[in-house]
Amino acid sequence: MKAIRNYDRYVEKMQQIADLSNVLSLLHWDQEVYMPADGISIRSGQLSMLSGMIHDLQTSPGLVELLRELASESGLSADEHKNVEVTLRDTTRKLLLDRDFVERLTYTTSNAFVAWDKARKESDFSIFAPWLEKIIALKQEECRKIGYQDHPYDVLLDEFEPGMKTRTLDTLFAAFKPELEELLKQISATGPDTHEDSFMYLNYPKDKQWQAGLDVLGKMGFDFNRGRQDISTHPFTISVGAKDIRITTRINENNLHEMLWSCIHEGGHALYEQGFDEATYGLPQSEAASLGIHESQSRLWENHIGRGASFWDYYFPKLQQRFPQQLSTVTSELFYAAINKVRPSLIRTNADELTYHFHVIIRFEIEKELIEGSLKATDLPTRWNELYKKYLGLDVPDDSSGVLQDIHWSHGSFGYFPTYSLGSLYAAQFYHQATLEISNLEKEISEGNLIILKNWLRKKIHRIGKLADSDDLCRKITGESLNFRYFIDYASRKYRSIYRFSELTVSS
Ligand code: ZN
Repeated sequence: MKAIRNYDRYVEKMQQIADLSNVLSLLHWDQEVYMPADGISIRSGQLSMLSGMIHDLQTSPGLVELLRELASESGLSADEHKNVEVTLRDTTRKLLLDRDFVERLTYTTSNAFVAWDKARKESDFSIFAPWLEKIIALKQEECRKIGYQDHPYDVLLDEFEPGMKTRTLDTLFAAFKPELEELLKQISATGPDTHEDSFMYLNYPKDKQWQAGLDVLGKMGFDFNRGRQDISTHPFTISVGAKDIRITTRINENNLHEMLWSCIHEGGHALYEQGFDEATYGLPQSEAASLGIHESQSRLWENHIGRGASFWDYYFPKLQQRFPQQLSTVTSELFYAAINKVRPSLIRTNADELTYHFHVIIRFEIEKELIEGSLKATDLPTRWNELYKKYLGLDVPDDSSGVLQDIHWSHGSFGYFPTYSLGSLYAAQFYHQATLEISNLEKEISEGNLIILKNWLRKKIHRIGKLADSDDLCRKITGESLNFRYFIDYASRKYRSIYRFSELTVSS
């Protein structure tokens, strides 16, 4: 009986922490969706105080003692034991950071977000630079406080992708990059890209795009009784509680891509959050296994469904009905080719599935340099532009379409970008498995039955939460660890059909 009582006390403490964290999330959401500009001076103080209070609860001697006791107790179920083990691991990391540090970091990032937003609008890096310098110094302090063996960046990766090391990613990207380059070479060898896509850049009224986005989310199985969508500068997903998952999108009236991919991408994240078991609210089982796995859910929907032929077989006539002026003369085949056009571009979130990874590799290289101190914040735009020239052959015309395009650094999220590539690779591997286990999956999708996929993901991934780490989960679902071969195979098949090149000579 003692173990059960202790476990219940643990659950109660975790739910209190979750309640407070959700209040914090709501304030963050409000800051990015509604808050008037001058609200920041008070808001950053509120966010900072709440973060400190949450940190105190997460590291309270009472909870730590309870966790240590529970970890060695028998009588817990396997899931209960795992919840305790994961909480203890996360708490051990948090114990290395004090409340003062957590408050300073939250205060700084909250102000930095406003500076970044202004800098991006005015395309002036100098507005953001002093805040970025402060954030980098704080992140370096975090690395020192937590400690590392090999590279300080390992500490930051670990926050988003538990167990991931800089060296592992170096090896992965070193093997993956030449295969991507080879595939891009095959595509460009087919000659100038003549796929017509100007219809994607006609005028698509905001209201109609908004409705189309909601409709697609509904088809994916997004539960509007337990979530909502709003507009923000940078699309994101945030949980305000087990029954309140918020997503945001952005709409560009002259570019249909932006709304479509942000809606489907954030929708994928939201399905993951809505898929957690409510009975385990506040526990690791109601958290993502890792950000890489979170991204696998968004990228799976965005790429394998949203950029897939089967979905558009079903949905293109509906989109045409909504936008007859813009799309009546376009065929679904033409639309499919247009949304899968491969070409180097400046903005990560608008990139095709192949060149996307170069955007990630560039940020990975830069983050390592900033954290190890070999690159100064003030030299960042020059380094950024240099790498865009090197990897994508592009000249960056201004900071707003260059170094200021992403929100992440203003949030202090260093170590996050690699999870986008990991997510795409996991997505390809998971989707391959789904096609093996769900009979006629592509046919089901072409008939609009997306729920069958959502249910498969719910059972295999969502319900597990953080009880399995990324590698365990991947091996459990697919029988092997992460293998980028699935992505290369999928991409080769897809682009071979669109660009009509024959056999690939990619080395394996
Ligand atoms: Zn995402």
